[in-house]
Order: sequence, then C-alpha cells, then structure tokens
Amino acid sequence: MRIARYTAGDGAAFGLVEGELGPTGTSRDGLGAGAAEGLTVRRIDGHPFAPFQVVGDPQPLSDVRLISPVLPSKVIGIGRNYADHAKEMGALIAGAEDDPPITFLKPSTSVIGPGEAIQYPGGVSEEVHYEGELAVVIGRLCREVPVERAADVILGYTCANDVTARDLQRAEAQWGRAKGFDTFCPLGPWIETDPGSSLATDLAVTTTVNGELRQAGRTSQLLHPVSKLIAFITQAMTLLPGDVILTGTPAGVGPLQPGDEVSVTIENIGTLTNRVVARG
Ligand code: MG
Repeated sequence: MRIARYTAGDGAAFGLVEGELGPTGTSRDGLGAGAAEGLTVRRIDGHPFAPFQVVGDPQPLSDVRLISPVLPSKVIGIGRNYADHAKEMGALIAGAEDDPPITFLKPSTSVIGPGEAIQYPGGVSEEVHYEGELAVVIGRLCREVPVERAADVILGYTCANDVTARDLQRAEAQWGRAKGFDTFCPLGPWIETDPGSSLATDLAVTTTVNGELRQAGRTSQLLHPVSKLIAFITQAMTLLPGDVILTGTPAGVGPLQPGDEVSVTIENIGTLTNRVVARG
C-alpha cells in the first residue's frame, strides 16, 4: 500500500496511490520518468495512523501535487551506518565498527516533499552534499521498543535525502546546523507500507545527480539494521506517529550545485526527485 499526502485545490489530504509503477528515473514531478502515468490517488478520510476509509473517486496522480508524505515531530538521523561510507568519511566520524550508532536530529522545518526545491545556502555553506537514504516512518506512539517488536511500530518506508553542509559538519562540533537547514530533508514520494519485507532488510538504494549514478548500496549492508535502530532510539526518546528515522547513506556522497536535479530511488518504494536552487 502506498500512502501519499497531496494538495488538489482545497487543502492537503492523505491518499492511497494505486496502479502499476512505471520505470523509475528522474523528472520534476518527483516520481521518476513516466512513473506517474496510470497511477491514481483516492483520498483517505482522516489520517493513516489508525484504521481508515478511502473516500471519493480515484483521481489521476498527475492532477494533484504531492507534498511530504508526513509532517514528523522529529527526524532522527543515523550517521556512519554503511561501512564503505564510514571509510570515505575518514577522520570526520572515525570510530570502531561496534560503537553505538551515531544519532542526530534534523528539525521538522528541514522537511520538504517531492519536487520541492532544496535551497542552497550560499555564503553560509559552500559545500552541500546529497545523502540518499531509506527512511522509516513510525506508525504509533512508542518507547522502549524491544528489537523483536520493532516491526509493530513501523507504518512504512519512504525515500530521503539527508542533505548536509559538509563544510559546517567539519567545522562545528555538533551537526545541528550542518544537517538542519530549511529544505535539507526531502522525503517522498509516498510511504510504502510493504516494500517486500517488514524490516526492509534488502532493498537497493541509489542516488543520481542530473541522471548520473552517484550512490548504489543495499539496506542489507546497514551496520545497524532498522530493528536495532528503533530499539536504540526508543531507549532514549518516545517516538510519535509520523516521526522519521533516516537510516544512513551508502558510499558515494558528493556535492550539489544550484541547478542540479537529485533523485533517490529505493527498490519497491519509488523515486524522490528535487532540484537545487540558490537561496534567495
Ligand atoms: Mg545521512
């Protein structure tokens, strides 16, 4: 089941996206070339965090504008969760393989949806990087979740771009500013509740910039899998419905420039595409 949020004239609603996905690629609608063709959306009455009814007739997806599939109260980021990326980051986030996961927070104000612009904060940062990642969307209020119960608190998964001001990440002791600029957390295009396995254990994660492949990993390479991340995070904080966990990025991170188009594709989920513009 694919759950999106969208606007269609009279405000925002959740909706169920139905139909066969086209080939994924890049396009300005955030869906991938040809992917919107034939897809429809039907409005969900209320929200998807409880049993819901679908109302109204199916509308072509191309007639609506998708927005961020959730409005999280918080986004929890995980650093250095693929060994090959940890290696490429070298001293910046050096540590032992069996160290606890590195966690950080991205503010809710950093979240944007598919097709929205990433604003490049020139003059504050001159080195802005993409990081394609699997995002976990939490389905219910939870704390102190045991590893074996993790699947019970997940609503589904979406694609994320953990956009990072790499120069500020190097220069400043904590990553709050580097990871926290407005527009630095694109999410979408929708929440897939069944990507083939309840804990998303082996999905391809790829990132392209202007159509060129830059990152290619699989979630099977995660040093700390989704179930362990949920247990670890909820030892400390309560998660609310709609909260998001970014699970880390594979190797191949690199710079974005104004004018670039960046796409994160996750197998069985979809493609999230955003353009980069200079911040006004
Ligand atoms: Mg990241």
